[in-house]
Amino acid sequence: MKNIAVYPGTFDPITYGHVDIIQRATKLFDQVVVAIAASPKKQPTFSLEERVALTTQVLKSHANVSVIGFETLLTDFVKKQNANIILRGLRAVTDFDYEVQLTGMYRRLAPEIESLFLMPSEKYTYISSSYVREIASLGGDVSEFVPEAVAKALKNKLRK
Ligand code: ADP
Repeated sequence: MKNIAVYPGTFDPITYGHVDIIQRATKLFDQVVVAIAASPKKQPTFSLEERVALTTQVLKSHANVSVIGFETLLTDFVKKQNANIILRGLRAVTDFDYEVQLTGMYRRLAPEIESLFLMPSEKYTYISSSYVREIASLGGDVSEFVPEAVAKALKNKLRK
């Protein structure tokens, strides 16, 4: 049996924290599907198409990684991909409560899918897409937190 992990999120935009989790995952699973949620409620800065394109560009050198946008229930998407794992990243204890709730809901919806968690290198634990967006919108340098292509895209999108 192949282990296929779906790593879902908004990725608005993808950061070095996400990339760190994906790199770890590629060593553990046969295939990693980075699943970009439309997340209209979050009113993302980048459109779904832009987030898929940016993430694809950043991850192009990883052989067993694919990037797909989705607008459906996550558990339905995971089944459609013939995947058996939902992968999430844990930064700090503040992520934990939210992830416990989500995992409980996913397990009720699809008990055959296992949720697994990975922690990034400690130098990435403080990175969040929302702070990266805020820093970029105020003209700050985000090159320490995101790949070059993302920093450029943020500059084009947000810089006043
Ligand atoms: P969501 O809107 O689902 O929280 P995100 O794109 O913010 O989507 O994050 C996707 C996943 O990546 C989540 O599991 C989140 O905890 C994790 N994550 C976000 N930033 C980091 C980081 N710096 N290091 C490790 N994991 C992270």
